[in-house]
Amino acid sequence: MNDFASLGLVEPLLRAVSDAGYTQPTPVQLKAIPLVLAGGDLLAGAQTGTGKTAGFTLPILQRLSANAAPRRVPGRPRCLVLTPTRELAAQVEESVRTYGRYLTLDSMVMFGGVNIKPQIDRLRRPVDILVATPGRLLDHYGQRTLDLSGIEILVLDEADRMLDMGFIRDIRKILALLPKHRQNLLFSATFSNEIRALADGLLHKPGSVDVAPRNATSDLVEQSVHLVEQNHKRDLLSHLIRHNDWRQVLVFTRTKHGANRLAEKLIRDGIAAAAIHGNKSQSARTQALAGFKDGSLPVLVATDIAARGLDIDQLPRVVNFELPHVPEDYVHRIGRTGRAGSTGAAVSLVDAEEIKLLKGIERLIRREITRVDVEGFVPPVRIVENSARDTGGRDARRGSGPARSTAGDTAGRDSRSPRRSAPRRGNGNNAAGQARPGGPRRDGQPASLFTAPKPGSTRGRG
Ligand code: AMP
Repeated sequence: MNDFASLGLVEPLLRAVSDAGYTQPTPVQLKAIPLVLAGGDLLAGAQTGTGKTAGFTLPILQRLSANAAPRRVPGRPRCLVLTPTRELAAQVEESVRTYGRYLTLDSMVMFGGVNIKPQIDRLRRPVDILVATPGRLLDHYGQRTLDLSGIEILVLDEADRMLDMGFIRDIRKILALLPKHRQNLLFSATFSNEIRALADGLLHKPGSVDVAPRNATSDLVEQSVHLVEQNHKRDLLSHLIRHNDWRQVLVFTRTKHGANRLAEKLIRDGIAAAAIHGNKSQSARTQALAGFKDGSLPVLVATDIAARGLDIDQLPRVVNFELPHVPEDYVHRIGRTGRAGSTGAAVSLVDAEEIKLLKGIERLIRREITRVDVEGFVPPVRIVENSARDTGGRDARRGSGPARSTAGDTAGRDSRSPRRSAPRRGNGNNAAGQARPGGPRRDGQPASLFTAPKPGSTRGRG
């Protein structure tokens, strides 16, 4: 017996959950499962790694099996899950199979970039749950191989990412093809005005689940900022990768050109790296991604758009070589790390011009990001002061200030160091960063890299 039973799930689902090794529902599951079982619409703020997939899949399976279809028509699904990427689609359908293994429902996944013929063949048999990316779904509809008139439940998974990827028109087209009476579930990690507008038009008196505060970043991700001049960024990144022996790091740049130049520089420095962006051929992208996943390519440099199409979540570390112009993109970027059960690190290299962007991000995620100095890359005073200034109001309200820590020799700067920062759960940094006063850490590593500093081994300054 596990705690999923108290949520009202039936025995075949409990057995499947138990097979998967889950003993406790995650917070999003605790809230979403009863709401979805009751048949209501749902607006859920939950990012990948929270267990959201089981949060909607389990109750959907139960509802569909409880209310058997009058007759099963080939190519006429009862539930449609839309996802932004093929990887997510495949993952969700896998979950449907896993959790539905003791039920008799059929599922199918469809996405673009692959031959459509096998999908058409599959649609000649009954499908209860269809997991699809928007473009390919519309292709099928256009070819009349798919009948959407039987949809009882619609899920928009990672809705924010779908909008970011430009799917809004496709989504609206698809919505127009669905029966009016249906249950709607919308999952999104962030809530822009556009998402709110979509939700307003789609959902009827939705129950809401908000496991991550809106636009919050996961507590499992240790975030830090290195203040550095633009023309030192590439050297700093090479240094960090080599010095800390980073084996798998996704680096974000703002432009394709910047991605190429950075990858070239890293290669010149003896670090295996590849840039991945829209100008690269599909095969170059696939090859780079495969190398990145199997560990032979430690560094992948990507633009936001290119990265969105990649199934590379659960990373130990992402680096923002440049901050994104849109603060929500920061949340997306670092959401690739620190998934359920594992911690991750997000490191941002920030120059004087980006301080404004940094402040915007900190406002959005409602926390200050720890500034960390790296030995040999001491930021100019004007950046440091500019970065610390004007957070005062918020700090006073919160009773904490931006933390500053160092791994290097910052003698003479202590007096400028802002006040001690309150510890933040899961941030991985202790109260004021991990600096020992007056010198580098014994192991000489930048403090930001430590997810679990030994208590008492370091002391805050300020
Ligand atoms: P998701 O956020 O849906 O991508 O799920 C993230 C990971 O958490 C997946 O690998 C799931 O298998 C796992 N997971 C989901 N629910 C639970 C649970 N209740 N207990 C432990 N792991 C879970």
